[in-house]
This record gives sequence, C-alpha cells and structure tokens, in this order.
Amino acid sequence: MTVTDMRQGQCPGCGSGEIHDVERHPQQGGSLLLRLRHRMTLQRFATRLLVCLECGRFQEHLELDEKDRGEIAKGSVRRLS
Ligand SMILES: [Zn+2]
Repeated sequence: MTVTDMRQGQCPGCGSGEIHDVERHPQQGGSLLLRLRHRMTLQRFATRLLVCLECGRFQEHLELDEKDRGEIAKGSVRRLS
C-alpha cells in the first residue's frame, strides 16, 4: 500500500522514515483560520506540521476533536461526496 499520510511515519515522496513533528506558534502558521457559514466570525483551528528531513517535503493536518468536526461539517460550503 502506498503511504500518502506522513502521520504513518514515512515520507510519501522519498520513502524516508525521517519524519519529524515540528511545533509552530499558533499565530504564526500553527493554525488555520476558517470562515464557517453558520457562524458570524472566523474560527481558528490548530494544525500539526510534519517534515521529512530527507527531501524537505512537509504535510499539515488539522488537529480536530469531535466538537471541531461538528463545527466544520455544519459550516463548510459543501460536502464533496
Ligand atoms: Zn521525503
């Protein structure tokens, strides 16, 4: 099976296992500001950044709990499938 998610500990680009979890400040790229349609304000969600030390590829994922999932499901533009 092809690895596409770095959270599995392997780089989808070069295959290296040198994947590192890097911390960023929430106000400096460590989060994503989303406009949810059922709210009148923007809402900030924390992100997790994973970096491959071999090729420099990186991936970002939202760190979602059940409440966040519900908010995004209600406030998104549409579900694609
Ligand atoms: Zn890599």
